[in-house]
Amino acid sequence: DDSNAPRRIRALDQDVVNKIAAGEIIVAPVHALKELIENAVDAGSTALEVLVKDGGLKLLQITDNGCGIDKQDLPILCERFTTSKLQTFEDLQSIATYGFRGEALASISHIAHLAVTTKTQESNCAWRAYYGSGKLVPAKPGQSPDPKPVAGRQGTQITVEDLFYNIPTRRRAFRSAADEYNKIIDMVGRYAVHCSHVAFSCKKHGESSTSIAIPANASSVDRIRQIHGGSVANELIEFSTSDDRWAFKATGLATNANYSIKKTTLLLFINHRCVESSNIRKAIEQTYAAFLPKSGHPFVYLSLEIDPQRVDVNVHPTKREVNFLNEDEIIQAICEHLRSKLAAVDTSRTFLTQT
Ligand code: ADP
Ligand code: MG
Repeated sequence: DDSNAPRRIRALDQDVVNKIAAGEIIVAPVHALKELIENAVDAGSTALEVLVKDGGLKLLQITDNGCGIDKQDLPILCERFTTSKLQTFEDLQSIATYGFRGEALASISHIAHLAVTTKTQESNCAWRAYYGSGKLVPAKPGQSPDPKPVAGRQGTQITVEDLFYNIPTRRRAFRSAADEYNKIIDMVGRYAVHCSHVAFSCKKHGESSTSIAIPANASSVDRIRQIHGGSVANELIEFSTSDDRWAFKATGLATNANYSIKKTTLLLFINHRCVESSNIRKAIEQTYAAFLPKSGHPFVYLSLEIDPQRVDVNVHPTKREVNFLNEDEIIQAICEHLRSKLAAVDTSRTFLTQT
């Protein structure tokens, strides 16, 4: 038995490393989609269409009308750490765009078949390119991997097919395409509420009706009405508060004391990225506890903008968690403001029912 003998250490194959990293960033189809939505919004798009097959496992396609990608950049588009948004480590502290590390497209190309069709304003045609493992690949074996000219409008269409095709254990772990589709609808809905002036649509492949269809000119309340229904939209109060000491500004829409549901819906954006925060969720629930019946919960859309110098977006590869300075003070200030708004509505309601 030589189980105590020293074991040799070997470097993993680069392809294996990339696949592992990609699987960590993209756990489910919705994570790929979130990156693609953020890229489309970063590109200045005013219309964004999402098409999904088999919960995004078979097909995930997003078409935008943004600035497009320069043909010369196509060869390096899906390499790791290629980005148009970041140059130095210091840039990480002042970055205002959603993506910032050039990892999303690279990751997707390692665990799916990726096709990009894109046209800039300057180009007189669109270009189509296919990617595998970070590099340009031919559309069919034997062909040249170079991008091909095609007809197309300004903007970019990204097609992701057969996600996790080379990670069979992950692929098999997905039980229900419907569950994955619901997560996708939820994410598209979040960005559709947050990105006013941007039109959103989302539908299943082969179905004529859309799950989400928001025109560019829809107001924030209308966006919430379409996605979450009139019972939420009719009971919203607008709030807005800021404090220079902590360099933040919070705006949003939250249900008043007339509305209550079993589970809190929190649409949280920090510096225009959809994130989760259990601290913020808990504090909001505590604030509402004074206004809602026991086991009642609110709907809250909160857009929090914090001086980028005070936000650490680099704590987690998925960027789902964000750290920021004075978190306690900022949360307290927001909840204090919400409380005063809720109290004002509550008093007027009591007053009305009394007369
Ligand atoms: P990041 O967004 O962090 O820069 P990505 O891998 O998501 O990294 O994208 C790499 C680059 O590809 C972006 O910096 C951008 O220049 C370009 N890009 C990706 N998607 C689009 C799009 N929909 N429209 C225009 N450019 C895009
Ligand atoms: Mg990105």
